[in-house]
Amino acid sequence: MLEHDVIIVGGGLAGCRAAVEIARTDPSLNVAVVAKTHPIRSHSVAAQGGIAATLKNVDSEDSWEAHAFDTVKGSDYLADQDAVEILAKEAPDVVIDLEHLGVLFSRLPDGRIAQRAFGGHSYRRTCYAADKTGHAILHELVNNLRRYGVKVYQEWYVMRLILEEGEAKGLVMYHIMDGRLKVVRAKAVMLATGGYGRVFNTTSNDFASTGDGLAMVAQAGLPLQDMEFVQFHPTGLYPVGVLISEAVRGEGAYLRNSEGNRFMEQYAPSKMELAPRDITSRAITLEIRAGRGIHTDGSAGGPFVHLDLRHMGREKIMSRIPFCWEEAHRLVGVDAVEEPMPVRPTAHYSMGGIPVDTDGRVRSGVEGFVEALFAAGESACVSVHGANRLGSNSLLECVVYGKRTGAAIAQYVQSRKLPSLEEGPYLQEAQEQIQALLDQQGEQRINPLCQAFQDAMSQYCGVFRDQESMEKGLEITQELQQQYGTIYLGDRGSLWNTEIIEALELKNIMVVGRMILTSALNRQESRGAHSREDYPQRDDPNFLKHSLAFYSAAGIDIQYRPVTLTQFEPQERKY
Ligand SMILES: Cc1cc2nc3c(=O)[nH]c(=O)nc-3n(C[C@H](O)[C@H](O)[C@H](O)COP(=O)(O)OP(=O)(O)OC[C@H]3O[C@@H](n4cnc5c(N)ncnc54)[C@H](O)[C@@H]3O)c2cc1C
Repeated sequence: MLEHDVIIVGGGLAGCRAAVEIARTDPSLNVAVVAKTHPIRSHSVAAQGGIAATLKNVDSEDSWEAHAFDTVKGSDYLADQDAVEILAKEAPDVVIDLEHLGVLFSRLPDGRIAQRAFGGHSYRRTCYAADKTGHAILHELVNNLRRYGVKVYQEWYVMRLILEEGEAKGLVMYHIMDGRLKVVRAKAVMLATGGYGRVFNTTSNDFASTGDGLAMVAQAGLPLQDMEFVQFHPTGLYPVGVLISEAVRGEGAYLRNSEGNRFMEQYAPSKMELAPRDITSRAITLEIRAGRGIHTDGSAGGPFVHLDLRHMGREKIMSRIPFCWEEAHRLVGVDAVEEPMPVRPTAHYSMGGIPVDTDGRVRSGVEGFVEALFAAGESACVSVHGANRLGSNSLLECVVYGKRTGAAIAQYVQSRKLPSLEEGPYLQEAQEQIQALLDQQGEQRINPLCQAFQDAMSQYCGVFRDQESMEKGLEITQELQQQYGTIYLGDRGSLWNTEIIEALELKNIMVVGRMILTSALNRQESRGAHSREDYPQRDDPNFLKHSLAFYSAAGIDIQYRPVTLTQFEPQERKY
């Protein structure tokens, strides 16, 4: 059995920032990070547009209160306002700290960190490194893991969380290279496993964003919070779904329909293309539905709209958003200096997740906490994004709450011994699970079943939802889940058997997808990214509350928790 004081699952921004904080707070602690990818291949590396913080380098009248208000309004008032205040107040310090760790941000002519406009933010407060911000931050954080002597298990797949009598004791993990299984025991376990974009058929997310941490928590009998709130980013490149950053609109690009009109005028006249993502994604979907989408041959009635950068000019495009230009050029052959990009909404971000308090402690239910279990980043729900996240607030959440959770863990483990744990039964169970997959004599490969599940989620629980479609979605996904036992693996070896990983991930995708559908069906209102055609209004008297979904083989049970309000009274959300 492997032993560490702290084991962190996830080598993205949240996991790495927590590890650095633990090592800084108490250098004598033995900290390890485990990731199924190499840490610098975590999805954080793909973040483009930037990280919000009121440095006031460009707009001197900005304030943390304004940042907090924009975030709460963007969340459609579902965010916990105490958590948002911490996020906005601590933002400038964590960004400066990143710079001290070595991150190279883009600069103003006078040498201070540059800041750009972003959707839903009322001032220019997003700090960036061109359109490769995640790359710049994650590389430095991973370098710092080495500097602080954090042990890294890369390309180990964590199969389960070990939870006994309300206490997290460790993990079971599988070495992708050679099929070895190991149990790790630790004084504290932290989950920072990122999002679940792969639950849907069109996503901006990495192939590894399969919601493993969420599924592990759900299968351990713990709740997941606000799973109905899935962010569809307005500008996924058609047809691949890859992200074209909001920074492109932040720098001035237009959205146009088949008639050439800037249609955002109808939906958010004061913010236009920089309206929050839920509103912009709905606007694009409605334009496409109304026959004002565009076909590849340029005719009307097609599946996408245009993102038009031409008026920005080559120099600005190439200096501020070179990566977005390159992606459209490489993936769909569009030179954005000369022609508009084809875009439509793509599954992008998970507002919900593992419920935690502002120290990253995982909640066990409406009240109470799990001993020795922590979470942060996109897999957690603290909740600073409520029903809709503002762009550039997620990298910020990873860093602010990664740091806070790291500090809380460093304190927590001071008074703890390694838990007593018998590894035998866990190893045997994992071995049997792998062997069963290898031996399974099914009739279908993993990919078509996964595709069918993703198609059903996108069709029945997408940008717009209603009771009938979600009930249908639940029925179909249940049938597909039952077919899991009919898959077979082409590769039955133990060396680099990526099919085993795909099979384990598919199981998790299915658990998470059904949690999303059930939570969405239960919320009979429209709020933020959750847009119900049968309940088009927000309903504060009945639904100003967080939902907690509990998974079991028998079914999914929903309970509710109150939202924390401090200084911002819920108002109608207009832009
Ligand atoms: C294309 C794109 C662009 C974005 N741009 C921005 C932006 O400009 N600004 C912004 O604020 N936000 C942006 N976001 C969102 C933001 O990047 C993410 O929310 C954030 O980086 C998530 O970080 P994380 O540390 O929580 O998880 P991730 O970076 O996703 O890392 C998850 C880690 O968990 C590991 N893991 C998962 N499951 C297992 C398992 N079973 N076993 C072992 N390891 C496991 C993975 O290997 C990985 O190391 C963007 C997102 C995307 C997809």
